[in-house]
Amino acid sequence: MASESKSLIDPFNRRIDYVRVSVTDRCNLRCFYCLPKDFKGFESREDYLSYEEIERILKAFTELGVRRIRLTGGEPLARRDLHRLVGKIAALPGAEDISLSTNAVLLSRHAAELYEAGVRRLNVSLDTLRPDRFREITGNGDLDQVLRGLEVARRTGFSPIKINMVAMKGVNDDEFIDMVEYCGERGFSLRFIETMPVGNTGRDAAQQYLDLSEVRERLDRHYSLTPSVMAGGGPARYFRVEGSDLHIGFITPISQHFCETCNRVRLSVDGVLYLCLGQDHSYPLKSLLRRGVSDEELKSAIVEALALKPERHEFREKPDQVVRFMSSTGG
Ligand code: SAM
Repeated sequence: MASESKSLIDPFNRRIDYVRVSVTDRCNLRCFYCLPKDFKGFESREDYLSYEEIERILKAFTELGVRRIRLTGGEPLARRDLHRLVGKIAALPGAEDISLSTNAVLLSRHAAELYEAGVRRLNVSLDTLRPDRFREITGNGDLDQVLRGLEVARRTGFSPIKINMVAMKGVNDDEFIDMVEYCGERGFSLRFIETMPVGNTGRDAAQQYLDLSEVRERLDRHYSLTPSVMAGGGPARYFRVEGSDLHIGFITPISQHFCETCNRVRLSVDGVLYLCLGQDHSYPLKSLLRRGVSDEELKSAIVEALALKPERHEFREKPDQVVRFMSSTGG
């Protein structure tokens, strides 16, 4: 029977061993390319999966061979007692790697309890090192809180800590070298990301789109970069700055998509399984749970859902196609 399989293989022969979970669609920042200031379309809280429901779904996934789980959002630290969920996931026999994507605004307060509960790897969004620019990009965010959060995380022992910088023309394209230096001095990795046409805001932000080959050229003038790999590196193509331990990744969903190696699915805050960030193929798991399905039926449903995974996103060909916001799906 399909549900007894120990690995999830999609129709394009890709092994799916990674689930990204959006634990909330709320965020304490309003980055202009992600979530509009006046956004009103949040899910109501009773539609959120509870921690127990997330645990149950992830248990099914780990029994089907998933090994890596990332908590994201929205801003995951905006959901109360996140460490309680981390503890539950860490207790699942197959969950080998639990990571967190955060804007780090609340990180100094929560770093210790998250580490203790089992998170080891952190991705932190940081598009600028200038306080005034940070306020503009994030809708009045306080850069100091983020930098403090990062410092506490570093001292707590998270490793690796990867900084995600969305590279945007006319917004932060004069800060690439500053960001490389900042990360190099602190032992962080740095990943540049191309702006994606996700949600209305992302679509508008496409005007600031910057092909990362331009970023690469600029870095080449300052540093000698040699190809490298990073464990759990996901879709980024990595380079190491010669003479240092600094790894720099380029995530190029638009200029050079990486769908042929896609290994992930996304669980939204309201319990819908999305098979692709850039397509609408989905499967409602929460309604099944709340109807009282058995563990075996849940696993069969996940196997069935996998059959819907599309070959690739079409951000480039159909930039107007996706209306879902990143915060709901789990960016
Ligand atoms: N709040 C958490 C954080 O800040 O990392 C997790 C969620 S956030 C949606 C995840 C990542 O998605 C961030 O690095 C953010 O910059 C990125 N992102 C959001 N909208 C994007 C877009 N239109 N194009 C590219 N990246 C985007």
